[in-house]
Amino acid sequence: MTVGRFAPSPTGRMHLGNVLGAVLSWLSAKSRGGRWLLRIEDIDPARSRREYAQLLMDDLHWLGLTWDGEPVWQSRRSDIYEDYFQQLKGRELTYPCFCTRTDLLATQAPHESDGRVVYPGTCRPPGPAISGTPAIAERPAATRLIVPDSDVAFTDGHYGLQCVNLAHQVGDFIIRRKDGAWAYQLAVVIDDALMGITEVVRGRDLLLSTPQQLYIAQLLKLRSPCYIHFPLLLNDAGQRLSKRDGSLDMASMRQRMTAREIVGMAAYLVHLTPEPLPMTPQELLPLFCWEKVPCHDCTLKQLQ
Ligand code: GLU
Repeated sequence: MTVGRFAPSPTGRMHLGNVLGAVLSWLSAKSRGGRWLLRIEDIDPARSRREYAQLLMDDLHWLGLTWDGEPVWQSRRSDIYEDYFQQLKGRELTYPCFCTRTDLLATQAPHESDGRVVYPGTCRPPGPAISGTPAIAERPAATRLIVPDSDVAFTDGHYGLQCVNLAHQVGDFIIRRKDGAWAYQLAVVIDDALMGITEVVRGRDLLLSTPQQLYIAQLLKLRSPCYIHFPLLLNDAGQRLSKRDGSLDMASMRQRMTAREIVGMAAYLVHLTPEPLPMTPQELLPLFCWEKVPCHDCTLKQLQ
């Protein structure tokens, strides 16, 4: 049985790119007769808001995207994350990291164009001696997971074979933040496994998160789902849609469009339909297949 999920972060109102993620993950699971679960990824206390989570659920209902069972709230699962975190810590696979973002940016040019920095291993043991220097040891530290210098290979359901060397392309990565918040990479792996998720459908901006998640799952002996990434929606300036593109957020779209128009537009943008016709998710089911969805990013210019 296919079990899919939608895992939004309630840090703002959903925009068309999030709607696309919800529609595609719903179609992918439902077209295989599966279940589709909702997980509210509210682990970042500084950015998550209860009101956004409520609006998110209301928007999904309004769009006709109903989830199975009760939503899972990450903010209520801290004890579970703690258990797994302690396992990694106990096996000496982690270390405290005192670097600031400014430190990291100073050491190296950001990787590619997305501002990502490969962690240079500054605090990796044997790193700055923290024992005997209480002033340092008491400073808040993030916790990083040590990654091996070997390739992680996986077959993405849409983009095919991917091969990533974690040490070269990512570096040791954070599993618990300096402020004590759980990192997305750790929580998502634990939740996907414990919720019995069999397929993860999400934007291709998270392709590089997948080998990190596969690595954590392997260390924790957790089951990994299949991963299917989809192309991003780009605004007229060729940038990835974000919460800043206000006219495409649900608050604004709901004032001028029907639910069927929004769903139909999302489907059209990834070539599921030849025209942007109003459609319910249910009506799209017989038209859905991954082969129709392109691998290149999709621009909103198609709508003009
Ligand atoms: N909360 C993450 C996001 O909204 C979910 C990513 C995922 O689907 O794994 O980007």
